[in-house]
Amino acid sequence: MMTLHTLSCFDGFTCLAGDCPDTCCQNWEVTVDDETAVYYQHLEGALGERLRALMTKTPDGTIFQLKGGFCPLLLPDGFCSVQRSLGEEHLGVNCALYPRFNEIYGGTREFCLAISCPEAARRLFSAPAPLTITQATLDELPEPNDLDPERYLTLRRCRDAAIAMVQDRSLPFSRRMALLLDFAAAVQRLYKKRCFAEIRALCKTYDEAPARAERAQQLPARARRGAIYDARIAQLFAQMEPIGAPQWPDAVRQVQQALPHIAASTVSDWQYEHLLVYFLYRYFLKAVNDGRIVHRVRGMAICVRMLQLAASVTGVASELATLAYRFSREIEHSEENMEQIWHAGGSRLFAGLIDAME
Ligand code: SF4
Repeated sequence: MMTLHTLSCFDGFTCLAGDCPDTCCQNWEVTVDDETAVYYQHLEGALGERLRALMTKTPDGTIFQLKGGFCPLLLPDGFCSVQRSLGEEHLGVNCALYPRFNEIYGGTREFCLAISCPEAARRLFSAPAPLTITQATLDELPEPNDLDPERYLTLRRCRDAAIAMVQDRSLPFSRRMALLLDFAAAVQRLYKKRCFAEIRALCKTYDEAPARAERAQQLPARARRGAIYDARIAQLFAQMEPIGAPQWPDAVRQVQQALPHIAASTVSDWQYEHLLVYFLYRYFLKAVNDGRIVHRVRGMAICVRMLQLAASVTGVASELATLAYRFSREIEHSEENMEQIWHAGGSRLFAGLIDAME
């Protein structure tokens, strides 16, 4: 049987539809999967005619061209014409699924929401209680796969240890970040040599809060190098491909202009903790495919720091959810932009990122 994992805050999501403050039916190309396109091609009546008139074939598949930046099927009250007339089951696959997605690792399905949806982002930051990964059994058989069980189970163990250290509120958040970066570098060294038993032993040493506190104390606190890394982080985001609305690129520009005199973010640490747990949940296990552990963890730290800087300069400090969904639309929805972050995380430019932690 398959096991289902869910990040606790995302359980029970429903789309806000007409009440959404920033609908997803804009700026992004609306793709229509082949099966749905065939259904629309044969649909009778006025809606069928309209859908056929709006569908456009491109070399990458069928799409609805946006009109004035919005999906042409979006109604003035924020609902979708197809959903209202035909029901959710006749939406294209992408429209029906978003912002939900699943990652399959052998017999485990990991369910997550993209925080590019304002409601998903709101849920992520809705309560200070530590997030958990809930588990359930699905009435589905695992599909055949070529996952290396030893690598996967080792990474699962590492992710649990990483989330526990990020959620250790007896330590200041910046110390937890330093601990995580140190841990990721140690795991990477062992993982390369396939020393999986040693990695599991290392995780065990981080299970106890006193051991974590001791290690956190041993790590150097050299925040004076923070300004150097802040400039590098802002530069990294400034040269990324803009893919949608201007608010996130504007926030990045504001950060660049304000550097190096940016006051500490007034957002509560538990919100950054939740953000980091979301990143760990969503991206850490992907290392099973390419072995890039420290690249990803440094990349996550880079993203958290960028959101801290943006929260300080844009005046939306009380609304991290707003910044986060704008960030996610521009960054997480571009494979190219995400690749730049992982690449930066593994580069010499950010190899000493731990030195920027207080
Ligand atoms: S962004 Fe989220 S809440 Fe808003 S319309 Fe899309 S799925 Fe619904």
